[in-house]
Amino acid sequence: MGIPVRAAVLQVVNGPFAIDEVELEPPRTGELRVRVTASGICHTDLTYRAGAGRFPFPAVLGHEGAGVVEAVGEGVTDFVPGDAVVLSYFSCRACGTCTRRHPAYCEHGYAGNFSGARPDGSFPMRWQGEPIRSSFFHQSSFATHMLAHQHNAVKVDASAPLELLAPLGCGFQTGAGAVLEAFRLEDGQQLAVYGAGAVGLAAIMAARVAGAARIIAVDLSAERLELARELGATDTFLADEPELTKTILKRTRGGVDFALECVGLPQVLRQAFDVTRPLGTCALLGLPGRGAEVSLPMSALLSGKKLVGILEGNADPKTFIPRLVSLHAEGRFPIEKLSRPYAFEAINDAVHDMETRTAIKPVLHMHGGRTP
Ligand SMILES: [Zn+2]
Ligand SMILES: [Zn+2]
Repeated sequence: MGIPVRAAVLQVVNGPFAIDEVELEPPRTGELRVRVTASGICHTDLTYRAGAGRFPFPAVLGHEGAGVVEAVGEGVTDFVPGDAVVLSYFSCRACGTCTRRHPAYCEHGYAGNFSGARPDGSFPMRWQGEPIRSSFFHQSSFATHMLAHQHNAVKVDASAPLELLAPLGCGFQTGAGAVLEAFRLEDGQQLAVYGAGAVGLAAIMAARVAGAARIIAVDLSAERLELARELGATDTFLADEPELTKTILKRTRGGVDFALECVGLPQVLRQAFDVTRPLGTCALLGLPGRGAEVSLPMSALLSGKKLVGILEGNADPKTFIPRLVSLHAEGRFPIEKLSRPYAFEAINDAVHDMETRTAIKPVLHMHGGRTP
């Protein structure tokens, strides 16, 4: 028998979230029932709300959950009820890609994260008696309780501030992981970040941790650039400044070691590529629209420049999230400056504030909380 819980049910593309009672199955093999303390909202939730997943609604989204384990299924060895956990993306931990330590590119990653169902196609929640898509990133954390998997759960200290740590599982991990895990940026190197949202600002904080000599932030908003500066950016530019590429090339004496595109637009990727120095690396982190293409000067690639796409910062959450938690505790990864708390009931306000860029990282508090 399942238990009654409350979830934000999305019934139609771009529709409002309606908080209603759903029935949550008992945990199956490898699963954990987690009482969700808080969940961040990520841009991927918004693109899936807009129909990017092409799966039928109703659905429960949310994939930056954190909470406390209430019950465990068969075969769970590393978690017991009462454990505090931060959830991240799902990987099978067994395929060729996972065993080569690239869980972000797991061969079962699509089914386990983006189908809205479990990897075997089943659904953990029922709404009005019918099964609904409710295993987004093996979480569906826009709910008071969810079924996660031992493979996407990371144990944290029982006293850890879960409301703050919830968004570590996706957006913050993506930006910080790109710098610390994918690039392994070293002391004295130069980085440029296009897009000062949650992902870009996490990259900027991580670059400061790594000792970057120059951290350039580019965004359309002066306010965001101000925050980027506070978090470690040394040079900031409005994205619509004329001759921007030329200015950055001059300022960096020939380009940056690493450039990050955190927006998902072809023209921005092209700019990031153009400010990357010979032998440097330009990476795409932003989610492009379906079918988007970019054109590049082929000769520039022959300078040894690399262009790569990075998912989830190339990070393994089992080791990287504990590292971010430590950096946060040391005050070196001050994510609270990007987060804004909302009561679960205010989820539609939170989405609105994110879409209008008035909130960088809304965090829903599932069991009572304050609204800004
Ligand atoms: Zn795998
Ligand atoms: Zn995400």
